[in-house]
Amino acid sequence: MEQTFIMIKPDGVQRGLVGQIICRFEQKGFTLKGLKLITVDRPFAEKHYQDLSAKPFFSGLVDYIISGPVVAMIWEGKNVVLTGRKIIGATNPAASEPGTIRGDFAIDIGRNIIHGSDSVDSANKECALWFPDGPVNWQSSLHSWIYE
Ligand code: ADP
Ligand code: MG
Repeated sequence: MEQTFIMIKPDGVQRGLVGQIICRFEQKGFTLKGLKLITVDRPFAEKHYQDLSAKPFFSGLVDYIISGPVVAMIWEGKNVVLTGRKIIGATNPAASEPGTIRGDFAIDIGRNIIHGSDSVDSANKECALWFPDGPVNWQSSLHSWIYE
């Protein structure tokens, strides 16, 4: 089953949105397979965002991600990468639809609350980077009530 990497950024933690964000993934029917509250250092944040290293906002983005603890998660389910991105909403909260996490909780692009992997390939890389020991292996007893 597909997995994705979701991270509640320091602003989401500071604003007390952890519970509401986890709730949205849970109530959709996705399964939590990894979870930790962690403050990362600059080299780690630079590695996570290495594809954006040429962007003018890169150093500000890294400053933001290392500014406080983040909630790192692995979520599992059918099409969870794409659906997770839909739950999160567009990168710029000014364009995020109401009902999405960014659309409901954020205003500025540089304080957009949450990260989600943008493809199955980057999801696999990001899950391996943040959870080198792998996911927690368990199966929800609701499985047969969510999938036909
Ligand atoms: P997403 O998080 O939606 O996948 P990107 O991968 O393009 O978006 O960018 C990573 C993060 O970098 C964004 O979530 C946002 O926090 C930040 N970012 C992107 N574009 C800008 C920008 N123009 N100015 C400031 N920060 C930005
Ligand atoms: Mg991205």
